[in-house]
Amino acid sequence: MNNIVAIVGRPNVGKSTFFNRLIKRRDAIVDAVSGVTRDRNYGKSEWNGKEFSVIDTGGYIKGSDDVFEGEIRRQVELAIDEADAIIFVVDVEDGVTAMDAEVAKLLRKVTKPILLAVNKVDNGAREKDAVEFYALGLGEYFTIAGMNGSGTGELLDELVRVLPELPEVVEEENPLPRFTVVGRPNAGKSSFINALIGEERFVVTDIAGTTRDAIDTTYNRFGFEFKLVDTAGIRRKAKVKEDLEFYSVMRSVRAIEHSDVCILMIDATRGFEGQDQSIFWLAEKNRKGIVILVNKWDLIEKDTMSTRDYERKIREELQPFTDVPILFVSTLSKQRLLKALETAVEVYENRKQRIATSKFNDMMLPIIEAMPPPALKGKYVKIKYCMQLPTPTPQFVFFANLPQYVKDPYKRFVENKLREIYNFSGVPIDIYFRQK
Ligand code: GDP
Ligand code: GDP
Repeated sequence: MNNIVAIVGRPNVGKSTFFNRLIKRRDAIVDAVSGVTRDRNYGKSEWNGKEFSVIDTGGYIKGSDDVFEGEIRRQVELAIDEADAIIFVVDVEDGVTAMDAEVAKLLRKVTKPILLAVNKVDNGAREKDAVEFYALGLGEYFTIAGMNGSGTGELLDELVRVLPELPEVVEEENPLPRFTVVGRPNAGKSSFINALIGEERFVVTDIAGTTRDAIDTTYNRFGFEFKLVDTAGIRRKAKVKEDLEFYSVMRSVRAIEHSDVCILMIDATRGFEGQDQSIFWLAEKNRKGIVILVNKWDLIEKDTMSTRDYERKIREELQPFTDVPILFVSTLSKQRLLKALETAVEVYENRKQRIATSKFNDMMLPIIEAMPPPALKGKYVKIKYCMQLPTPTPQFVFFANLPQYVKDPYKRFVENKLREIYNFSGVPIDIYFRQK
């Protein structure tokens, strides 16, 4: 499990510049393969061997010039609730502004690690200007220049030093599937969970000052044993009313990272929207299994909208990862809830499956031989051998004489074939071509 670090601050202080410097290059490469970058505000970073997740809170309100105080304030409050550490970025060019003072006031009450980053300190003179930020009452600050990276090393040294130690995840011999139910507010997540677990009402715990680590509870229902990873969004007594992308992402990250399969609930009356897409993408990016439940299907006039049309519309939004089960359910009339659970278990099994190397070669090599990668610059790519890697999520490597000549369309072809032969429904997979 990762610590979550939130970057907060006013617009234009340099948050996204700094964020882009933090996230791993690997992220960018993964995105290049799938051909989409859906969310530039969430990524993984690593420093001194410690991995953590980073969220750039500002990324979600970019573009609006009249960002009012209330919005930033709510974002900071949510970051305080959900993150393990906060990097508060200010701008040495602007000096201390009223809004900075507001944010600092919120942060001063918090016991979580807060790091004050005075940005745009590009030269020695600005180093001296930075002293005025002591006025924020947050103690020591770090002077950085997100643009060229100066000072960020010291900041990160301190960050990984103060990040809380997370409980060691002990891998059990026969671990139970960990499911999490995610989705926008009012999609029906709590109703689903309550319907699923019956009498044992979802326990609401809200103890101030305790860590908000995802908590999982073991259930045994309809012959299935599984763990439900509780998201803060469901657990919280006062449910969030705000229906913004930022809130969904912030509230889902930890549970998604901690689970094996994400059950993404959408509201049939609203369709698959931007927020649903960000949550889907978070799960995909973390290589988690995914099941989509279109809830409140009881409210849809069936002669105006068929499940087939509806499903097709959703699949278009999922591109390029479309091999995902989509079920139409109603938690109200308890329709297809058992099926939903069965499907989540199936996706879990799909994600865990290991294909024996000899069988995999027997299956894949004839397909590749019949339809080899197109020749490039008069050179032919030969694929001699392939295998599934012993990784926690399905990854496959194909050994070739000229792997650099294998382009994305061919990778997609191989992935599609693989998905036709084996059941990887709901499971993101990785395919690599390597030099033999
Ligand atoms: P955000 O709105 O807080 O995410 O800010 P951005 O990262 O978009 O940056 C706002 C502006 O500040 C951009 O024009 C950046 O090029 C500039 N900027 C960011 N970091 C630095 C820095 O270290 N030095 C200087 N001089 N400018 C910077
Ligand atoms: P959450 O915020 O995602 O946990 O959503 P809730 O479970 O609190 O549900 C939000 C609202 O939608 C409540 O008023 C539920 O009664 C209603 N609701 C949930 N599932 C269904 C459903 O299948 N059909 C209908 N008609 N309403 C539902």
